[in-house]
Amino acid sequence: MLSYEEALDHLLAAAAPLTEVELIPLADLRGRFLAEALVSTVTVPPEDNSAMDGYAVRCADVLQSGVALPVAQRIPAGSIGHALAAGTAARIFTGAPIPRGADAVVMQEFCAHGADGGVIINCLPKPGMNIRRAGEDIAAGTEVLPAGTRLGAAEIGLAASIGAARLPVRRRLRVALLSTGDELAEPGQPLPPGGIYNSNRYFLRALLENLGCAVTDAGHVPDSLAETRRALRAAAECNDLIVTSGGVSVGDEDHVKPAVEADGELSLWKIAIKPGKPLAFGKVGAGGTAFIGLPGNPVSCFVTFLLFLRPYLLKRMGARTTLPVARTLVAASDWTRPDDRRSFLRARIAADGRVELYPNQGSGVLTSCAWADGLVDTPAQQTFKAGDPVRYLSFNDLQ
Ligand code: AMP
Ligand code: MG
Repeated sequence: MLSYEEALDHLLAAAAPLTEVELIPLADLRGRFLAEALVSTVTVPPEDNSAMDGYAVRCADVLQSGVALPVAQRIPAGSIGHALAAGTAARIFTGAPIPRGADAVVMQEFCAHGADGGVIINCLPKPGMNIRRAGEDIAAGTEVLPAGTRLGAAEIGLAASIGAARLPVRRRLRVALLSTGDELAEPGQPLPPGGIYNSNRYFLRALLENLGCAVTDAGHVPDSLAETRRALRAAAECNDLIVTSGGVSVGDEDHVKPAVEADGELSLWKIAIKPGKPLAFGKVGAGGTAFIGLPGNPVSCFVTFLLFLRPYLLKRMGARTTLPVARTLVAASDWTRPDDRRSFLRARIAADGRVELYPNQGSGVLTSCAWADGLVDTPAQQTFKAGDPVRYLSFNDLQ
């Protein structure tokens, strides 16, 4: 049996990043991976501007609280004032450029109306007060995002803030998804005797799409060698990766392994983790399309996606970071059944910040995955008690 790290190393070594780059508009960038570092050509903010609604003054004119000044100009955001004459104030609004000569903004809450439309400054301003300096966010020429950044809301906003309308990103990874098993019935259909509903097909699609893959659902393949070979060859035609679930054990009805071997190459790994022992990896078809076969048990399938397929996909999509960062938290439950394999237990953070385990850790109990918000990574042969430290991996970092 391979360790988790050994299997992951093999997988990542074979994950060549996509090279094709597309220029995509801001509105369509969510979840894409930046192909080159993003460097700002502009300064943000472009000039000193007001952080408050209030009055721009020269501090030298307000040497004590209660000074009255005539209001010589009004500067709303989007317009440029003129130089502030000594002994005057400018009405100014948040985001408006600071007029030349002014060195502080007094927020309007510290001002009162004076005689003849003037203002009374009821505080002692200090130079720079309530002024956002030109370039305090971004200086021109700065790298604002490194290559390989996954673009989320904040990154897209940052790109917009420097005036970039399109960004170079890797093209989407094309993934074909196949589920296997004669017992599978599709949701919406009546369940025949001996049948179970196909759940892997739907959560795998969602997990792949969360990561920004372009998914082709190649359907549900019956347990036959000929059908499995035909489906795999067809999927290999126009995809970067084929993902299957089920059929990778070594039972007579597990046809994925011989099918991949017949039309490509395959390594079948037994990995010392629970859930999820079997994982198949190889290539199919003349073009050598990558193939990954996940176990059929729904929880094993879900967990092996997060532990293996996710880092593999991220690397192929050119992501900067592929591995989640574990946190040490305190257990709220006891784990009394040591296993001979490293266990990834479905768990969630309780209101008090401690981690509780789902009571049924069976590999067919998909409820555990919906209930949980992460996994507790427990070494082989280990138990723990409530109050002990545990290693927790959040689904937020994994999905
Ligand atoms: P297999 O790996 O094909 O031997 O399947 C292992 C277990 O997972 C069996 O109980 C299957 O019925 C179940 N299983 C396989 N594929 C799916 C699927 N797509 N959805 C739900 N359960 C599945
Ligand atoms: Mg099967």
